[in-house]
Amino acid sequence: MQKFQNFINGEYVDPSSGGWLDNVNPASGEVYSQVADSDAMDVVMAIQAANKAFEKWKKAGAQKRSKVLYKIADLIEERLDDFAKAESIDQGKTLKQATTVDIPRAVANFRFFAGEILHHTEISTVTDKGALNYTRRDPIGVAGLISPWNLPLYLLTWKIAPALASGNTAVCKPSEFTPATATLLGEVFNEAGLPKGVCNIVHGRGDVVGETLVSHPGVPLVSFTGSSATGEKILNATSSRFKKVSLELGGKNATIVMNDADLIKTIPGVISASFSNQGEVCLCGEKLLVQEGIYDEFVEKFVEATKNLVVGDPMDSKTDMGPLVSQQHYDKVVSLIAMAKSDQGKVLAGDEELELSDGFKRGYFVRPTVIADMSNCSELHQTEIFGPVVTLQPFKYAHEAASWANNSDYGLSASVWTQDIAKGHKLAANLDVGTVWINTWLNRDLRMPFGGAKASGLGREGGEHSFDFYTEQKTVCLQL
Ligand code: NAD
Repeated sequence: MQKFQNFINGEYVDPSSGGWLDNVNPASGEVYSQVADSDAMDVVMAIQAANKAFEKWKKAGAQKRSKVLYKIADLIEERLDDFAKAESIDQGKTLKQATTVDIPRAVANFRFFAGEILHHTEISTVTDKGALNYTRRDPIGVAGLISPWNLPLYLLTWKIAPALASGNTAVCKPSEFTPATATLLGEVFNEAGLPKGVCNIVHGRGDVVGETLVSHPGVPLVSFTGSSATGEKILNATSSRFKKVSLELGGKNATIVMNDADLIKTIPGVISASFSNQGEVCLCGEKLLVQEGIYDEFVEKFVEATKNLVVGDPMDSKTDMGPLVSQQHYDKVVSLIAMAKSDQGKVLAGDEELELSDGFKRGYFVRPTVIADMSNCSELHQTEIFGPVVTLQPFKYAHEAASWANNSDYGLSASVWTQDIAKGHKLAANLDVGTVWINTWLNRDLRMPFGGAKASGLGREGGEHSFDFYTEQKTVCLQL
């Protein structure tokens, strides 16, 4: 059986305990591989390797680092099909999505920061009394990079690329549910000539590998993407050492459709915002708020489009949605749908029988589900589902929509659909979230700051903001 080993100091190695975790293909429900069940000793070995590599990588300079990162991007692109297939089997996302979104985005992450580091400039001033001031940025050391299972390579490389471009070294901890593509990265690193120890990968459980990594004194900065509950634990584990911490956390995002929305574009846009990657994107809209004047027409068309989505074999090019990532996550999503029903929710789509061919009957498939008329006090209005489930709610005035959208501990993103652009901007200003899309969704410019408000995160990454995080800035003042 295939085994996903750790990648430490440029070499693939077994976990020191000799323990392995079963890794399931969510489409078949069967164990198809094993992943290293690492312990603190493996984490410490990786930190030591990264620490040893740091001074040399830091001094290698931006040109050399950029060249290696460009090469990594090229090599992932050359092996796009291998990466996409590995990610699809591991996570359940459709091969279509892995090939067109996730893996190309990983390539873009490396290319973007390979270029960005070459064009970065610092500021300088001269005072009236002739003092020259300038700023400089220096890498910090070993970065602890922790990622979730929903966009495994896309999110991990969003951290690795700026960390390495800035001159840090790294120890990565991918989700134990999706170790495949991070493991393949090691081969690419070696082929691209990344020096040994600059980027290490340690697999295993969050409460062992993750906790050891974030609390280790040799790791001065931590970038984490995952749930808000884990984010809180990381904040507590790192605060006493004043580590630099970036947290990209959960969401309960609203999709707001105004009376004047162009339904030809809005229906497919909202379908993507609701069900992409089986709804397992932190930015998916789970609260679908529709203005009264268009409510009936929108709901009819939206429900029809939802029922047309093809659920099944993620490798089939006709499939729109694969399985959820794990039995555990499937059980959670199904129990939240049951909660919606018991809170007066009317299921408009999702209850139909799911016909699965042989080989997929034990997979974790959930039909895209639309629920209307749920009681206003249902707990589900606050709980992140992280699956293919949206709840519908009509509203009369824009301020009501903003207040429903903002009625959440989270504040990650929202999308607004309207042809009245002034109205769209006004609503965007009133939403307490990190990103608002108007007439689009998941449309990212890597130069722009990305992050969440409230319980959705801490700090911003993207372009210069990533360099702010991965470097320490110093002001030098010289009297001329
Ligand atoms: P999770 O918090 O359970 O796990 C994320 C990672 O943290 C995994 O690698 C896990 O092993 C590790 N981990 C677990 N406990 C840890 C601990 N005590 N210390 C250190 N590391 C630990 O999240 P998940 O279920 O993998 O991912 C789903 C969540 O991620 C959702 O809430 C989703 O909204 C969020 N997410 C957010 C963004 C964003 O950009 N804001 C992007 C994707 C996913």
